[in-house]
Amino acid sequence: MNYNKKTVTDVDVSGKKVLLRCDFNVPQDKTTRAITDDKRIRAALPTIQYLLDQNAAVIACSHLGKPKGEVKPELTLAPVAKRLSELLGREVIFASDTIGPDAQAKAQALKPGQILLLENLRFDIGEEKNKPEFAKALADLAQVYVSDAFGTVHRAHASTAGVAAYLPAVSGFLIQKELEIMGGALNNPKRPFVAVLGGAKVSDKIGVINNLLEKADAIIIGGGMAYTFKKAQGLEIGTSLCEEDKLDYAREMIAKAEEKGVKFLLPTDNLCAREFSNDAEPVLTEGDIPEGLMGMDIGPKSREIFCDAVKGAGTVVWNGPMGVFEFPAFAEGTRAMAKALAESGAITIVGGGDSAAAVEQLGFAGEITHISTGGGASLEFLEGLELPGVACLLDK
Ligand code: ADP
Ligand code: MG
Repeated sequence: MNYNKKTVTDVDVSGKKVLLRCDFNVPQDKTTRAITDDKRIRAALPTIQYLLDQNAAVIACSHLGKPKGEVKPELTLAPVAKRLSELLGREVIFASDTIGPDAQAKAQALKPGQILLLENLRFDIGEEKNKPEFAKALADLAQVYVSDAFGTVHRAHASTAGVAAYLPAVSGFLIQKELEIMGGALNNPKRPFVAVLGGAKVSDKIGVINNLLEKADAIIIGGGMAYTFKKAQGLEIGTSLCEEDKLDYAREMIAKAEEKGVKFLLPTDNLCAREFSNDAEPVLTEGDIPEGLMGMDIGPKSREIFCDAVKGAGTVVWNGPMGVFEFPAFAEGTRAMAKALAESGAITIVGGGDSAAAVEQLGFAGEITHISTGGGASLEFLEGLELPGVACLLDK
C-alpha cells in the first residue's frame, strides 16, 4: 500500500470551494443530545483553520451515528455546527440537507473564508452504498476534495472514496500524520521493531498478527488472547478466554515466528481471578493456571520481560490491552506497558479503540508518538489492507 499521498499543502485551494470530509461522529448524551466529548471536532481544527487561512470556502461534511439512510432528527449535525462555531470563533453555516436544495444554495453562496457544514451524510442511503449519483452530487458542490476522517478510511463510502472520482483528492493534516507515522512504521521501521498485541480475541487480530509477523523483530502477546497461545503450547489455562478453533493457528504462528527468527513473547505469569469482576481476589500464578481461575492480567515477571523488550526498540506498535484494564485491580500490566512506551526512546504508535482509551485513561497519551484516531481503520491499517479512503487520494 502506498502511503505517500498528496496533502492539502500540495494543492492550491485559495478562492476555491473545498469539500472537507471530517470525522464529527461525536459521542452524545442519550437524552439531551449534548456532545459529551468534542475531541474529534477539536482534532479537525488544524485542517479547517489552514483552509480558511488559505481563503478557501470550506464545505465540511461528516456522518453521525447510524441513521442507515433515514433522516433521524436526533442524529442531526446541528449541535456539531454550534460547537465547531464556538471552537473556531466564527460563524458556521449549517445546511439542513446533504445534497438537497439547502446544501446547494448555501454551497453556491459560500464565500472564501467561510465555512458550511452539511447535514449528516448517512441520512442518505447513497453515502454508505457509495452510489455514484450521491458522490457526484457531493462533488458538484466543490472544486477540491480534502479527506481528513481517518476513522472511516477503511470504508468505501461516497464521501470517503466515491467523490475522489470527480475531484482532485488530497489528505488533511490528520490523515497525513496517520500515513506518515503508521505507514512509515510498517514500510520502513526504525529497528528493532517490536509489536505488542493484546485484547480479548485472537480472531479479531489474526490479520494484524499475520502482517506484523512479516515485519517485526519481536512480537509480544498479552491480554485475553495470550491464553489461546498458552494452551496451544500445552499449558493449562483454567477458565481463561480461549478460542479452541484457533489453537492450530496459534501453533502455526509460533512455528512461523521461530522459522523467521522473530522473537515471540508470551506471559509466563498471570494475575488471575475466580470471577470476571474488579472485586475478585487477584491470584498470582506461574506456568499452568489451575482449574477455576481465569487470567485477567499479565503478572509482574511478564511485565518486566515485556517492558524490557520495549525499552531497546526503535519502533513499537501497540494494539490491545495487556489485561482487563477497565478493572483497576487488573490494569497493572496495561499501565506498565503504557509507561514502558512512554519512557522508551522509540517511535511509539498505539492503534485500536480500547488501547487508545487505556493509554489516555492511564495518563500516558502525551508521551506517545502517535495515537491513531481510528479504531477499525487503524486495525485494517496494521493488517496491511488497502484502505479505500487512502487509495483514492492522489499520489505524491
Ligand atoms: P482494541 O480496541 O485496542 O483493538 P480489543 O478490543 O481487542 O482492543 O481488546 C480490548 C478488550 O480486551 C478490553 O475490553 C479488555 O478488557 C479485554 N481483555 C484484555 N485482557 C483480557 C483478559 N485477560 N480476559 C478478558 N478480556 C480481556
Ligand atoms: Mg476494541
